[in-house]
Amino acid sequence: MEAMTGAPRSYGSPDVAVIGAGMIGLTIAYSIASRGASVAILEKEDIAAGASGSNMGLVLWSDSEPGLSLELTALGWQRILGFEDELGSDLEFRRIPALGVIEDENSITGARAQAALLEKAGFKMEFVRPEHFREIEPNIFPGKAIAGTYCEEGRLNPFLLASALWSRAKSKGVDLRRGFEVVGLEEKGGKITRVVGKSGIVSPGMVIVAAGAWTRRIFGFLGIDLPQYYIHGEMLVSEQVPSYIRGLVGSGSPERVLMEKAIAESDTGSSEFSLSRCEREPMGGDAVLGFECENGFEKGPKKASTQRVAETLPSRNGFFARERGNGQFRIVEDALTQTVSGNLVLGQVSRGSGRFYNEVGHKTFADLSRSTLRYFPALSEVSVIRSWVKPVPFTPDHLPYMGPVAGYDNLFVASGYKSTIILVPLVGEIMAALVLEGKVFPGLEEFYPTRGRHAGAWCVERNLRRSRAGCLM
Ligand SMILES: Cc1cc2nc3c(=O)[nH]c(=O)nc-3n(C[C@H](O)[C@H](O)[C@H](O)COP(=O)(O)OP(=O)(O)OC[C@H]3O[C@@H](n4cnc5c(N)ncnc54)[C@H](O)[C@@H]3O)c2cc1C
Repeated sequence: MEAMTGAPRSYGSPDVAVIGAGMIGLTIAYSIASRGASVAILEKEDIAAGASGSNMGLVLWSDSEPGLSLELTALGWQRILGFEDELGSDLEFRRIPALGVIEDENSITGARAQAALLEKAGFKMEFVRPEHFREIEPNIFPGKAIAGTYCEEGRLNPFLLASALWSRAKSKGVDLRRGFEVVGLEEKGGKITRVVGKSGIVSPGMVIVAAGAWTRRIFGFLGIDLPQYYIHGEMLVSEQVPSYIRGLVGSGSPERVLMEKAIAESDTGSSEFSLSRCEREPMGGDAVLGFECENGFEKGPKKASTQRVAETLPSRNGFFARERGNGQFRIVEDALTQTVSGNLVLGQVSRGSGRFYNEVGHKTFADLSRSTLRYFPALSEVSVIRSWVKPVPFTPDHLPYMGPVAGYDNLFVASGYKSTIILVPLVGEIMAALVLEGKVFPGLEEFYPTRGRHAGAWCVERNLRRSRAGCLM
């Protein structure tokens, strides 16, 4: 009958629809369903199909931003320590020593400032000389390091985390719509009335967008240009080897932050970097750098734009490298750890390319081999058995978007987290209290999408008045 009339298939009217089945969507769905509301997760592929099923599983506090972000990180760390018991699942969680390799003087200054900030929240980060690296990682060679940071962080198995969250959510009656790609949001009188998917429609009471790097695209359906960008995280996984890396060896330098800053500024600073042309077209992709479009489709990167972004970054050829060529730039930011089952996990090369891509490039292998072998020469005998790449979202001020969407009564967002895993136990509860009971976690306004320099434009666009924290209805 439906086929004859052409009416879209209706998937009902849950109290809450969550868009995205990553670890953020899953934890939110679980917390909301635990409070008795009906929840449908709308997911274009499957559980953890995005970054949540592609990460290193690191439970990191050392890169936290000041303010609420740091407070939540501190709370999140406490919760993560007991999260296996809470979920009733083995997540392969371990506390691990983390060594941040520093290769230049400027990075020492940055790291000292970060250590001072972290100390205020009760986290301890020490500085070590290269000759003491082996007391932390017995197999490391100091390479080009001039110093290092040392702290205790955590690691778990991200697949087990996603699976445990889903299993808990399912036990609370959460309905998962796999293969439901959201392609539109319908609005009436400041309310989202229908979420439109390629395969049908859902008419929920509330909508939470938790679509990771794709969140900006979802907001585009409402004509809202949410300033959220992405970089690419690439990962190599080795065959299983006997215990070789005790914890995490990674970057002690701020390259990634610099790159993200450059990408974000390029979006608003000059028309040359304008992203808007294909961004709002559903078919146009989510270009993060200036990108040529044709009829709403991506045509190719704007050479000048990407070069300009690259020029704002320091050049270095050590554990971290920057390269330019073919109108693209890339940053190599290594991190190396070993899973409980013995696989070495090597990432994360962050590459700005102007569009989503899904294959680890051959240069990644060359770069990672070169830089890693300098510190761990014995790994030259180890084979890589798997590799993948996924987009990782970020926002201009590195704080997530978490809160209500101004101008709408029933629309919320939870996206753009930095070190996400450590926040997973909290995000669900914060969003559940907000959405179901209207309870605002103290200071949450810091994370509202209307904060900062985009707030004014947002308020005007949505025809709202502006307050210090954002827009007033
Ligand atoms: C290589 C790599 C290493 C990383 N390492 C770490 C780490 O060690 N520790 C850490 O904390 N973080 C790490 N991260 C970052 C972390 O994985 C992400 O921040 C986190 O997974 C984001 O979760 P999310 O639920 O917000 O987004 P995602 O997991 O990306 O989920 C978004 C979901 O939305 C779905 N979706 C998108 N568009 C639509 C649509 N139109 N309709 C329906 N569904 C849609 C997607 O299919 C996806 O399943 C890493 C990321 C990568 C790629």
